[in-house]
Amino acid sequence: MNRTRLTMVGTLVIGLTIGFAAAHFGGEAVPVVHSETADMSPVKALSDRDVYYPGTEDLAPDEIRVVALGTGQPSVRPKQAASCFLVELGNGDKFLFDIGSGSHERIAAQKIPYDYLNKVFISHLHVDHYGDLASFWLGGTVMNRLVPLRIWGPSGATPEMGTKHALQRMQEMYVWDIATRAGFVDFRGGELEVHEFPFDRVNEVIYDENGVVIRSIPAIHAQDGAVSFLLEWNGYKVVYGGDTYPNKWYIEYAKGADFAIHECFLPPTLLVKKQGFTPLEALRVGSQAHTSPEQFGKVMSMVKPRQAVGYHFYNDFDTEPESRERVRKTYDGPLSLAVDYMVWNITRDGIRVRMSVVDEEVWPSPALKKKIDVEPTDESPFSDFTLSGREPFPNVVGPIYEEINKLYGTDYKPGP
Ligand SMILES: [Zn+2]
Ligand SMILES: [Zn+2]
Repeated sequence: MNRTRLTMVGTLVIGLTIGFAAAHFGGEAVPVVHSETADMSPVKALSDRDVYYPGTEDLAPDEIRVVALGTGQPSVRPKQAASCFLVELGNGDKFLFDIGSGSHERIAAQKIPYDYLNKVFISHLHVDHYGDLASFWLGGTVMNRLVPLRIWGPSGATPEMGTKHALQRMQEMYVWDIATRAGFVDFRGGELEVHEFPFDRVNEVIYDENGVVIRSIPAIHAQDGAVSFLLEWNGYKVVYGGDTYPNKWYIEYAKGADFAIHECFLPPTLLVKKQGFTPLEALRVGSQAHTSPEQFGKVMSMVKPRQAVGYHFYNDFDTEPESRERVRKTYDGPLSLAVDYMVWNITRDGIRVRMSVVDEEVWPSPALKKKIDVEPTDESPFSDFTLSGREPFPNVVGPIYEEINKLYGTDYKPGP
């Protein structure tokens, strides 16, 4: 009798858990049940949980984890950075799709060593899709990325409108940063490996390594030079759609994907009401430059993915219901309307959607590899003018050096 009762309680707990996840996070995918019965004990840790704590869960060899790290609009806000999705595969490979403004801190919150995060795919060159690249690139050199940062991005209508040109200029823009940082840290991670590919290639392979194939398809957004990506691995297909007007390539090549991400902009009504757009501007931006919820739903009803994900709108208690209602006019399949830190685990059995719990105290990645000390040169980087302003405080700095020398058996001396 007790046993029956416990099983019933366990089943009830699991039932409630699933119901809560579906109602709260908008996940309508097939739920995955993680334990037969819930452990009931007043003193033991719970065996199952409804949230994801970054850095605490293994990824199974045949599993994919996708984390939304930027789901908002071009102007970032505390709740939502601009576009960025992390795709982690069971073979250990990790890919960033877009790295929009504000997304770097969300990447850091994943507690992933920077050495594992050296592949970035940029859908187009709007700041909300690659605005945090410089911070991630140069910040990564200080945080132990000791391998080059590899970036894939489209060409534009002219060479100056392409990814290669933009990233050359980015390196020029940060010439002072590079010159000064390179003298202090092991700068191997400062090397940029840029792969520009033609924006008009249709379903062509742009990446093929370690059993992972990534293809590019054109997008229709602003002007030539916007694309979407399709990642294939182990028989899975994950699609990352950058900004676009609904297009035939996405519909054709994303078809039947396990996981299909596509923009789903605020409806024009809310652009007028909440953001002060004029009606014409709202229509042009919300349904011509971008994809409205109804258009998003139409696309997904043709793609029929195992899980559809809409993003690129300020997703709040007073906007999500209207967006969802409008998507539901044209699509009735599995749907998540993403906010930052939503996470999906994709397996053959199901797709589980949860929210991450972020550790505000987290430090960016721990060191993976031994650093190489950069040899100080005799040549001062300062002019005589700047040097003349130094206050060396030998009685203060001397003991700091002595302390380190004693701890590590070294014999360093402060400069003059
Ligand atoms: Zn854009
Ligand atoms: Zn955008």
